Amino acid sequence: VDKQTYVVGHRNPDTDSVCSAIAYAELKSLLGHTGVHPARAGALNPETAFVLAYFGVREPDLLTDAAGLELILVDHNEVGQALPNIEQAHVTEIWEHHRLGDLRLPEPILIHCEPVGATATLIAEQYFTHGITPPRAMAGLLVASILSDTMCFRSPTTTGKDRNLAARLAPLAEVDLDSFGKRLQETRASTGTRRSPAHIVRDDFKEFRIGELRIGIAQVEVMQPQALAGLRPEILREMRALRDSAGLAQVILMITDVQSEASDLWVVGNHLDVFERAFGPLQEGTVHLPGCMSRKKQVVPRLEAAAAGSRLEPA
Ligand code: MN
Ligand code: MN
Repeated sequence: VDKQTYVVGHRNPDTDSVCSAIAYAELKSLLGHTGVHPARAGALNPETAFVLAYFGVREPDLLTDAAGLELILVDHNEVGQALPNIEQAHVTEIWEHHRLGDLRLPEPILIHCEPVGATATLIAEQYFTHGITPPRAMAGLLVASILSDTMCFRSPTTTGKDRNLAARLAPLAEVDLDSFGKRLQETRASTGTRRSPAHIVRDDFKEFRIGELRIGIAQVEVMQPQALAGLRPEILREMRALRDSAGLAQVILMITDVQSEASDLWVVGNHLDVFERAFGPLQEGTVHLPGCMSRKKQVVPRLEAAAAGSRLEPA
């Protein structure tokens, strides 16, 4: 039996994780590799479901356990964000745009980690590097991922490479970057406010090891700053339940208002001194951070610095 390989993104998958997996598996097939399949590590969010339907691509197979599988990882490399039992998988490649995480690998493999706005940018670049024009659906999935991850190029994670590749992909996908970007943003923001507190907290939830703490950070995009104010008690209850069940030190919710390019951070848990050193004093359980839109570039590094500082202080 031929060895089967799955390309898979992180848990609580977003558009970049799902679509980069599909497009990279397709590129491998176009390059003549057999037995490479796209997969997902959880349910599709509404934006991703819209993107797959729009370009007529079927949803990839669901994986729930990595043990014994041969995997190519896209869009993540931290154990807390990967499929369960990732240490028992045979990981053969990683394509990434986050910090290097804590996954230990027994042998040298291909790791392409580059601080661009989306993993999809790196996958699109691979198509062109190999002289392969992405088919319409693949170009569509890739450009949607770039628009989604960069919040239509507004996120500070955006690079020239993201803009260049999106501009090359858009005509192949037969979409206009502005109007398609707006449509994706509306899908995200409207579902963000219409959904239950459980969805708001869990749909885009990632776990990080910050110093000696395990901290969960959820992010939700809204169109108006006060969009979630009425749901606050239920959302905080949901955050506490998630913190308890996952055994985390803190759960943080990042409410990002794309229009004003700012985020509110809500937090529950302990070690709140670390949180306040990172972001300033909490006022009624909230900090408001103008200009803050990126979890990986603006929130995680400040928590890391604050946690490192706390270890240096005398007990
Ligand atoms: Mn992602
Ligand atoms: Mn990504």
